[in-house]
Amino acid sequence: CGIVGYVGPQPALEVVRDGLQRLEYRGYDSAGVAVVTEGRLETEKRAGKLTNLEEALAETPRSADGIGIGHTRWATHGAPNDVNAHPHVDNDNRVAVIHNGIIENFAALRLELEERDCKFTSETDTEVVAHLLGEEVKEHDEDLAAAMRAVCRRLDGTFTLVATYAGDPDTVVAARRNSPLVVGRGDGENFLASDVAAFIAHTRHAVELGQDQVVELRRDSVNVTDYDGNPAPVREYHVDWDA
Ligand code: GLU
Repeated sequence: CGIVGYVGPQPALEVVRDGLQRLEYRGYDSAGVAVVTEGRLETEKRAGKLTNLEEALAETPRSADGIGIGHTRWATHGAPNDVNAHPHVDNDNRVAVIHNGIIENFAALRLELEERDCKFTSETDTEVVAHLLGEEVKEHDEDLAAAMRAVCRRLDGTFTLVATYAGDPDTVVAARRNSPLVVGRGDGENFLASDVAAFIAHTRHAVELGQDQVVELRRDSVNVTDYDGNPAPVREYHVDWDA
């Protein structure tokens, strides 16, 4: 339902939690975050209000991080519980993904992955993306954006997807098809969200992605391509309404 991502010098967890709060008005049934700290992926997720997630986060203090992603879920596939909340991870716990929308062909993909001994923990359509990304990032020399493009070419449905990878603690990658995704450009930091409300406290320089595009976000760059890796046109604009 709501999506937030951050790359930059601020404590990522703070930025992401703040962004999720700003998207709360949209409604949701569970929430979760992922950060990459010292080459390790850490996730936390809880059914219910953001306060439940806050309590879980308070139990395990984390150091300041440079990248983070956060999600509020409105369940379509699988009950609204802790396990089905996003992020979802691959079996090596190296890739985390959050998702708005529906992966229409998830059942066929899940069968295929199970035949390759992938272990599923949730009932969501989203989890197939985590496992596919885990496979593809190995196939693509640890290039998460290339992995995302390869995965998107296999997906039917509507989605905004955002992923982080333990092997690349400087990059957040996102993709969209028929679901909103906006980048917020900062100075030495970049944001992304399903809605500009999540980041206008930080920047008003927005970049709206087009259909079937993948964005690779680093502190000093925003690189947008189509699913085949060709540079893609985007719409840049200034958000001039008040927060
Ligand atoms: N289809 C996904 C799920 O049920 C994502 C739902 C959403 O857009 O929040 O987990």
